[in-house]
Amino acid sequence: MSEAIEVPVITVSVIGAAGRMGSTVCRTLEAAADTRLVGRYDVGDDLGDLGGADVVVEFSVPGSAAANVAHCIDRGRHVVVGTTGWTQDALTAVSSQLADKPGVGVLIAPNFAIGAILMMSFAQQAARFYESVEIVELHHPDKVDAPSGTAARTASLIARARRDAGFGDVPDATSSDPGGARGARVDGIPVHALRLRGLVAHQEVLLGATGELLTIRHDSFDRVSFMPGVMAGVRQVGDHPGLTVGLENYLGLA
Ligand code: NAD
Repeated sequence: MSEAIEVPVITVSVIGAAGRMGSTVCRTLEAAADTRLVGRYDVGDDLGDLGGADVVVEFSVPGSAAANVAHCIDRGRHVVVGTTGWTQDALTAVSSQLADKPGVGVLIAPNFAIGAILMMSFAQQAARFYESVEIVELHHPDKVDAPSGTAARTASLIARARRDAGFGDVPDATSSDPGGARGARVDGIPVHALRLRGLVAHQEVLLGATGELLTIRHDSFDRVSFMPGVMAGVRQVGDHPGLTVGLENYLGLA
């Protein structure tokens, strides 16, 4: 008689469990054979020992994520973070706290959709061939922060590729723009944020050179598009101690 093969199970708690992303993550964790949901936390709940979970998934609001992550690290839990709006100072604080917890891994990913990560990677590759580049991010109107974390990260990756290629500023003769019609600048890259009912999460990177335009576009039509990336994070975060920013680092795309 052959013996049943035991799949090692990762215990997981979710912060922001009542939200759009958090509730989708809970359903995904419950459906997977190798994860067990042991805690659901939302605003006002005492996080305590986080249900003794191996890994905590954090999808709350930009104003709360840093304190929640600090609590998880303090309790020695690995954390997979999808909440956006992280500043460089907040990331530095996470790194400093992790210096005292050498075995703990934290993954902060502005976007868990594999297609979005590929879009960022392709945009970074293309950036050195095009004089002009602009980013348009499109989301549902309930999103509280702008520009999106994905757009900000894409802009930073493109800006670095342009610097490495010796490019200066993107060409733009605009001398009067009292209403901000030319969008925001992130690392010198123009970023435009659209908020429309019916959308989920979408982004276009437009790259222009004389006589041609390359458009790289990704669409998340449903929040389930983020789940393969979240699950990859849950399964791998324990093997990546310290702070990792961007799921591309787990996918061989960094
Ligand atoms: P949401 O508003 O539907 O859910 C947020 C949840 O967090 C709510 O249930 C809210 O009650 C809860 N919350 C608020 N304060 C809290 C606190 N202090 N502790 C615990 N829970 C708290 O939002 P959403 O659409 O699920 O998005 C959540 C976050 O994830 C946002 O920052 C969003 O931009 C981001 N997001 C990231 C990705 C990604 O791939 N990284 C994808 C989609 C959304």
